[in-house]
Amino acid sequence: LSHELRNPIGAISSAVQVLNAQGSSDAATAPVVDILIRQTRHLARLLDDILDVARISRGRVVLKIEPVDLRTCVQDAVDGNKQLFADKAHAVSIDMPKEPVIAEVDCTRVAQVLGNLVNNAAKYSPPQSCIEVAMELRAEEAEILVRDNGIGIEPHLVPHVFEAFYKTGSAAEGRQGLGVGLWLSRQLIEMLSGEITAHSEGSGAGSVFRVRLPLHQRNGA
Ligand code: ADP
Repeated sequence: LSHELRNPIGAISSAVQVLNAQGSSDAATAPVVDILIRQTRHLARLLDDILDVARISRGRVVLKIEPVDLRTCVQDAVDGNKQLFADKAHAVSIDMPKEPVIAEVDCTRVAQVLGNLVNNAAKYSPPQSCIEVAMELRAEEAEILVRDNGIGIEPHLVPHVFEAFYKTGSAAEGRQGLGVGLWLSRQLIEMLSGEITAHSEGSGAGSVFRVRLPLHQRNGA
């Protein structure tokens, strides 16, 4: 089904891009094109997630492992969510080591995981929140942290957020999405020999997600 949906969504996305590129002098059409762009992007992302669930469940994910600077993956993840940050007027701080942090990973997949974390941080925080992204180096690993001061998660529900199709509340309470992002994230990070954890002091207390990845070599060694 996902594959069948991919072609029409791809065609609609291209058509919308053409409309957008043409620009509009009509005040009534411009916001409509804007809605089309956002919603087709959203549909495409949902579809990618469903396809990934199918691939992972069948053991068909192929990782492209190569030495990369993890700071690039972090930056890609943040850049991919710029529009959402702007829409919600969030402030985002990024704190990373000055030197390259080399790890043998699939950078696209790491960026996908971190993108999901910053996307959730933005989604589950009220407008004008602060979202913190930081990377710290440990002996043999890098830890990337995504912290928000949003709606938080009841501590007894925290372990469940990594389950497939799990959502801690209803859409009416501001929980939006399929509930597969964190499950996918955990699968991908474990395939990369890393670990992903969540922490929250409860409702309204914000959340912290941590991703630990082994380093390829001692940086600077
Ligand atoms: P979704 O697409 O629903 O966001 P995820 O798998 O990414 O799916 O997250 C699962 C659930 O965990 C979400 O529905 C939400 O209830 C909760 N959650 C994830 N991240 C956060 C966060 N930063 N703050 C509060 N709740 C969160």
